[in-house]
Amino acid sequence: MRQSTITELQNEPACEHNKKSKSGCAPATPGATAGGCCFDGAQITLLPITDVAHIVHGPVGCAGSSWDKRGSQSSGPELFRLGFTTDLNEQDVIMGRGEKRLYHSILQVAKKHQPAAIFVYNTCVPAMEGDDIEAVCRSAQSHIKFPVIAIDAAGFYGNKNLGNRIAGELMVEKVIGTATPAPKPEFALGRVHDIALVGEYNIAGELWHILPLLDRLGLRVLANLSGDCRFQELQTMHHAEALMLVCSRAQVNVARKLHTKYQIPWFEGSFYGIRDMCAALRQFAKLINDPSLTERTEQLISQELEQLNQALTPYRAQLKGKKALLYTGGVKSWSIVSALQDLGMQVIASGTRKSTEEDKARIRELMGNDAILLDETSPRNLLDVAYQYQADVMIAGGRNMYTAYKARMPFVEVNQEREHAFAGFKGILTLAQQLCLTLESPVWPQAKQLAPWSA
Ligand code: SF4
Repeated sequence: MRQSTITELQNEPACEHNKKSKSGCAPATPGATAGGCCFDGAQITLLPITDVAHIVHGPVGCAGSSWDKRGSQSSGPELFRLGFTTDLNEQDVIMGRGEKRLYHSILQVAKKHQPAAIFVYNTCVPAMEGDDIEAVCRSAQSHIKFPVIAIDAAGFYGNKNLGNRIAGELMVEKVIGTATPAPKPEFALGRVHDIALVGEYNIAGELWHILPLLDRLGLRVLANLSGDCRFQELQTMHHAEALMLVCSRAQVNVARKLHTKYQIPWFEGSFYGIRDMCAALRQFAKLINDPSLTERTEQLISQELEQLNQALTPYRAQLKGKKALLYTGGVKSWSIVSALQDLGMQVIASGTRKSTEEDKARIRELMGNDAILLDETSPRNLLDVAYQYQADVMIAGGRNMYTAYKARMPFVEVNQEREHAFAGFKGILTLAQQLCLTLESPVWPQAKQLAPWSA
């Protein structure tokens, strides 16, 4: 990838983070890729496209350290779960055999799996060697009937956010706009409107909490970049009448470019929590500007809220006033705050790793100006905050699970490895149930007792 293109992506004008912070998508400093390199970011973004074969061109370690780390689920093809790599070794590098290995890998995967498309990911070693993966992809494509797309986002180009952005950019340039969608289906209550989502990864099947609601409103999701997505759906994304950027400031370039290129209006929102879920549905209605859709949206919201508030009553009674220490990052740093507040909980602090300035402003809006924002912090500091403010539960990503358990503190997982879907109206009920199960577990009083031999 050209340096000028990388610099352009690093300076994305619609990203507040880039304007105010040098760490946004700035070039990686040594050690900065510990939280995920540029290749990792690109692969995370595109891997949930389920009918595509994803080939990692590089040493096996690159594929091994990044493959299928997220719980993205598929309602159909499972091809994305197969990890393909050219497995470059020292001999290949010395003998300059990288391009040849890649070429044969593409043909082999095409013959054996008949994918909808093949994505080839560049990594540090072939990028430093100077392998021309674009040329190899072009040459291989002339022998097979599927598109072969080079994803040139080698690890050293920058951090994970930049990888997300490069992946989105390549989809806008090479995939979106190359097919037309199927005709709109009949809808008894009015006109069907086409929409698109960017940044919803269908972790633990969260998208499936949202789709039935959109169906009831007559909103057809043409494409979702990228949870439970098919390549052909992505090709038709430019026909969307409105786009929602979900949990992914890193891909704001996709929303901005689709607006510039195809005049698709967009907004940033979240499906976590009652207020944000309602706001997202209302925002679609506002952008599409169809009075009958607006009416259906209000009806759906009031029906859903009535049922949900009834179902939540016993959980709210248990959760009221409980203190949560939230240590996640990105957009979840505020969207989960909002969800927890909707359940009557008090959030004592929120983690802001990888959060943008805009995310931080939203946290302050929700928690007040004295909100404790935890940037990169050690487990010791995390526990100090928990003890000082008497947190009842820690809500964080998997890597903090043992910090909480060693401190005998209830823990709920909310990051990409989570097993429960917390999005949508159904998701808020699941979140309340999981919090109650964790807080009420009989293990905590026992764990806090002294061992019999020390009593
Ligand atoms: S692409 Fe580079 S930084 Fe990323 S895993 Fe491979 S070697 Fe490491």
